[in-house]
Amino acid sequence: MLSKFKTSSGTSGGQPKLMPVTAQYNKKGELFDSLKQSPAMRHFGDINQAGKRMELMFARPEIETPSGLKAATVSTSKFTTILPELYTSPIETIFCPDPNQGLYCQLLFGLIQRDEVVTVGSLFASTVLRGIKFLENHWQELCYDIKTGRLSDWITDSRCRNAASLIMKPNPEQADLIENICNCKSWEGIIRKLWPKARYIGCICTGAMGQYTTEIEFYCRGLPLVSDLYACSEAICGINLEPLCKPSDVSYTFLPNMAYFEFLPVKNERHESIEMKCNDEDTELVDLVNVKVGQCYELVVSTCAGLYRYKVGDVLMVSGFYNNTPQFQFVERQNVILNVDHEKTSETDLFKAVTEAKALLDPLGFILTEYTSYVDTSSVPGHYVLFWEIQGKEGKHCKELDPKIMVECCSRMEESLHYTYKIYRKRNIIAALEIRVVKQGSFKALMDYFVSKGTSLSQYKKPNCIKSEEALKILDSRVIGKYFSPKSPL
Ligand code: AMP
Repeated sequence: MLSKFKTSSGTSGGQPKLMPVTAQYNKKGELFDSLKQSPAMRHFGDINQAGKRMELMFARPEIETPSGLKAATVSTSKFTTILPELYTSPIETIFCPDPNQGLYCQLLFGLIQRDEVVTVGSLFASTVLRGIKFLENHWQELCYDIKTGRLSDWITDSRCRNAASLIMKPNPEQADLIENICNCKSWEGIIRKLWPKARYIGCICTGAMGQYTTEIEFYCRGLPLVSDLYACSEAICGINLEPLCKPSDVSYTFLPNMAYFEFLPVKNERHESIEMKCNDEDTELVDLVNVKVGQCYELVVSTCAGLYRYKVGDVLMVSGFYNNTPQFQFVERQNVILNVDHEKTSETDLFKAVTEAKALLDPLGFILTEYTSYVDTSSVPGHYVLFWEIQGKEGKHCKELDPKIMVECCSRMEESLHYTYKIYRKRNIIAALEIRVVKQGSFKALMDYFVSKGTSLSQYKKPNCIKSEEALKILDSRVIGKYFSPKSPL
């Protein structure tokens, strides 16, 4: 019997969807939660005994569906079952309707209890980074609150204020220590300095989150980044048995009792979908026991909650086996592509090209902090547009960036894209690639927009390709520089 629904984030794939939940499905979830903790325990000891977790968590209120059944995001359901004594964030801050007030309070309580904190993290890497950026802008205010034992006035949520009144008391020594740490010129390794007993940073850093790892590694210097699970609203899938593995090499071992997993082969070469033969999907599907190492597949799940052969939209590659159980690396979202004329640029293609181009900024003291893309077909031929948010290191402003370098970045991106793209550029089927530099905070505004539309902050994944007019307007209205590739890459 259905007990409720889960809502998917909908930011990477389109509209949020409702997924069925049953009591049996929930039981499987509990088993998954305990299994996923055991690899970390092997390496870092029993975290639950050692101290507290400073985890940034944001729940959204449940909604009632026309059927009368409630619907909540997976993360919201998870947060209702956590043991509060294991976390620095009181439950009131996790359920705070204003995510900014919730974030401020969670950082405040994480700092107050900094000597007890043994892990720092969030569900996704993007949220960890958002927390650090927020801290960069608010540490003085946070220190003042810690010093005086009084919560800032703009935190108006009464439940957060009540929670604060139970924990806060004036602590000028702690405030001075934090102030000294935050006041230093470089924030390299700041997480380690602020939470000296932290053993690792826990957050998903594979797939679309891979773009955040370099920056998080800068802030945590040497602390392992642990990406412990692969799951989605549709099904719970796999765990990472090697928590110390580099984010780029992480594989997830599938737990076959969580759902019935099948796999639709995808061409390895740039992961293009194999054409369905005679529209008969069944002939193409491969069982978990029959997947081949090195082959890419699109994940298809059937669950005890009622999904039948449901395409999740993720492409995975078999990287090996644990005993007889296949292990998968996350490759990309199937549906995130740029396409002017069937050249089909995938999320991975784009990520590689951006990685190549942004390397030009690093030696000049600038970091690409966020990017996204879209295909502009308002003129013919259409062209790729990249939105870049750039931050200067050590007080530099991105206005100081030499335009020649940005033009060079456009060229480098085109050179790094795949063969079909380059041929199309040469034949003028695609016009010159454009980079639009947006001002600081633009991607935060984008996130705020999606959150205002119902996305949970915990599950927010910045779209790597903008599909909505509204989202496009948000970025376009914040553009401070436009640069074009000067020549075809071939
Ligand atoms: P949601 O629809 O909000 O439940 O988000 C689920 C989606 O997040 C999955 O289908 C993946 O695309 C992505 N995701 C979840 N876990 C991972 C992971 N470990 N690595 C990469 N992407 C992930």
